[in-house]
Amino acid sequence: MSVQLYDTHSRSIQTLAPQPGEPLRFYCCGPTVYGPAHIGNFRTFLIQDVLRRVLEVDGTEVRHVRNITDLDDKTIRQSQAEGKSLAEFTTHWTEKFHTDCETLNMLPPSLEPSAVEHIPQQIVLIETLIQKGHAYAAEDGSVYFRVSSFENYGSLSKLKQRELKTQNENSAGAVNDADEYDRESVADFALWKARKPEDGDNYWASPWGEGRPGWHLECSAMIESSFGGQTIDLHGGGIDLCFPHHENEIAQSECAHDHALCRHWFHSAHLMVEGEKMSKSLGNLYTLNDLREKGFSPMIVRYTLIAGSYRQQLNFTFDGLHASQSALTKLERFADSLLKKTGEGREALAGYISADAPEDFGRFAKAWDALRNNLNTAACLGAIFGVLGANPAASLDADGARAMLRAFGSLLYALGLELFTVEEKQIDAPAEIQALAQQRWEAKQAKDFAQADALRDELLEKGWVIKDRKDGFELEPG
Ligand SMILES: [Zn+2]
Repeated sequence: MSVQLYDTHSRSIQTLAPQPGEPLRFYCCGPTVYGPAHIGNFRTFLIQDVLRRVLEVDGTEVRHVRNITDLDDKTIRQSQAEGKSLAEFTTHWTEKFHTDCETLNMLPPSLEPSAVEHIPQQIVLIETLIQKGHAYAAEDGSVYFRVSSFENYGSLSKLKQRELKTQNENSAGAVNDADEYDRESVADFALWKARKPEDGDNYWASPWGEGRPGWHLECSAMIESSFGGQTIDLHGGGIDLCFPHHENEIAQSECAHDHALCRHWFHSAHLMVEGEKMSKSLGNLYTLNDLREKGFSPMIVRYTLIAGSYRQQLNFTFDGLHASQSALTKLERFADSLLKKTGEGREALAGYISADAPEDFGRFAKAWDALRNNLNTAACLGAIFGVLGANPAASLDADGARAMLRAFGSLLYALGLELFTVEEKQIDAPAEIQALAQQRWEAKQAKDFAQADALRDELLEKGWVIKDRKDGFELEPG
């Protein structure tokens, strides 16, 4: 059995396979770098990371491309609000994103193209689309894609069945900004947006005048340049991107290149938090730092975000985080029991965590099959704990324990789980940092929350995260 995955386009489970002699071409819509990524963003990126790891353990080489969205309404608006250049602003948040990804033990993508770096390619794409009659320039210098020129429009989201109306609502029901009135049809979407005063210095020259590309276009351009203009094998993103973003990517790329953009579409379901939709107003758009401050290590967050099946809405709760914490402790005890048999210390575990799968997963075969069968992480973890419950280490000799560690280590690799991380990462903070943290603790006890928050931010800037305990605090490098 090779890796099977649900494909949104065909609405069926399909085998994932690269073209003969080629790595699997896997593109993911990346983060918009205008602030810290939250757990909803990370769920999608973590699920993609697990899929890539499962493919690697299965012996498939993956070319994983995930872009950086550094040019859109949000990055422009927010950089201006902070009085920074777009480049300075987005570089800061890109670096923060990288740090968070590394902390969550995500593999870096093979390539990470940026939208701003692909403006010439986007302009060439627009020119091609105009030449072929799929796009037109409006009087103000904006260019729109002519949706009626592409017969297959709506085939991914099956939008025709729901009546294609506007670009104003995405497939998760959220309303998009639509400020273009100069279109032939309300379904048409912007490929190029004519310069507006609120864009500030963020405009580029084009055959249609100064302006900037529309957001959907960037992925078509970056997929083309990252994969040499060939059909890709797999495209990932959150379900909210299915319409209009992915539908528009398909329209742009297929009309420009006359071949399929992608063979297989991989969408992950939404995240709920404590049973509610994530939103700014509810204050539940938790970042990694928010959760670390509440005492949850990045590995606990990773475990929680990948533990549910990717096609089902995951309800992220603090009870769930505590359950993940105890699940990780059980995995650690199990690793300890095997390492005791082999006569090795905890540091030896890293040597078993590998993409080189054993020939036979032995008692973990069911857990491994669950991952290959539509990335069923929930069933995989269930099967792992089923094995652990029988205390298998008790009856093993050193060789048997080593074989089991190899299978267990490949599963840990596939899930991206690291064990024993909390102890290893404890580092004593310098006296100056300790003093600041003490001041913050005292401000908090005195209910001077503004001062406490300011000190917490100062510590974060200096690279330290405070974790509150019942009767004190701990410091961790951030
Ligand atoms: Zn995209």
